[in-house]
Amino acid sequence: MGRFWNAAIAVAMVTTVVQGAVAAQGGAPVVLPPISPALRAAVTTLASRLDLERYKATIKGLTQFGDRRQGTERNRKAVDWIEAQLKSYGCPTERIRYMHDPPPPRPGQTAVARPAEPAPPRAVGGGRPRGVRTTTGVNTDPLKQPNEALRALNREPTVNGPRQEVYCTKVGTTHPDEMYIVAAHMDGHGWGEAANDDGSGTALVMELARIFSMPDVQTERTIRFALWNNEETGLNGAGAYVEQRKGLQGQEDPAGSGRYPEPRWLGMIQHDMMLFDHGMPRADGTIPPEQRPEADVNIEFQMTAAQTLGAQALAWYLHGANEKYATDYPAQVGPHMTNTDSTPFMDLVPAISVRENERGVHVGSGWDPQWHQPTDVFTTYSDKDFRLGLNAAQTTLGAVGELTGAAVR
Ligand SMILES: [Zn+2]
Repeated sequence: MGRFWNAAIAVAMVTTVVQGAVAAQGGAPVVLPPISPALRAAVTTLASRLDLERYKATIKGLTQFGDRRQGTERNRKAVDWIEAQLKSYGCPTERIRYMHDPPPPRPGQTAVARPAEPAPPRAVGGGRPRGVRTTTGVNTDPLKQPNEALRALNREPTVNGPRQEVYCTKVGTTHPDEMYIVAAHMDGHGWGEAANDDGSGTALVMELARIFSMPDVQTERTIRFALWNNEETGLNGAGAYVEQRKGLQGQEDPAGSGRYPEPRWLGMIQHDMMLFDHGMPRADGTIPPEQRPEADVNIEFQMTAAQTLGAQALAWYLHGANEKYATDYPAQVGPHMTNTDSTPFMDLVPAISVRENERGVHVGSGWDPQWHQPTDVFTTYSDKDFRLGLNAAQTTLGAVGELTGAAVR
């Protein structure tokens, strides 16, 4: 019975996700099939075009707009800058427009106190926190930013109103009507530079857009590179995309043109905080100063999602890509994806998140002391930190390159 059930899951995974690229074999739930030597060579070439200094420079470029808080001029300028970069890579851009008009926040309380916990404790997303935990929250005090120029840059408060976000698209040659969405959020807050949250994910997506848009690169399937706005206010930018475009999937427009403004979604991969894995807080609440030697890339799916089987297969596909294409840090897969822009997608399409740590159990327990704080600035991070983000880029590039059938000519 158990064996049959495993086989049934395997078949469901195969039929749900990745176009037969994941095959069941020998009773194992998921086995990654061999790919052709030509595909392996093409994706290896693309991965070799990722570069640590270039990745760092793109993060640095994003920090010129401070924390890029949604509803401010610095946020709008950042959207413009990102779009200009994507265009310069040869990746055609479009924008999503939506309104953000929430009721005013209640004044006072900024740090979020933990509610009484069930036993055993559960983190947001369903994981089980353990070990030393410290309080987390969003800094709203400008005086905690010691850099006066940065404090001034971040001064303009958010105002309700219309919002925009940008994406660009690499159209597939033989299956233009099917696509993977590769995404991150470009807004931040906390009176720093949002360098890690989520300049690191935004730069990763931009770097992949640059490489897949090179004139000698073709993919059989379409890839969309999306930089969401309004993540920090409740995933509103990604939510607006889903609401506006989910019903347009797979429609040829104009009829007979061979053009698909919204190709059918095959998978969605979100990147949110890619740099910092220094481990659990020490007993005194401080964090080790160096990237821990056992640092890893955390790939998460959500076990309660309607599309969880496909998401699991996609997560393990990235895990396999990490073993083939990442140069330094390994990957881990976990079932508690939460609180990021893949959430609005997860019941509709296999959706996963890629991150420095697990969002619920690790980040929620204080493993990243820069999270939403004035210290989330470019100069906080070392090359060991940036290299973790580069390894995540190698991982996603490898998986998406294989899944979309990349070729270099
Ligand atoms: Zn984030």
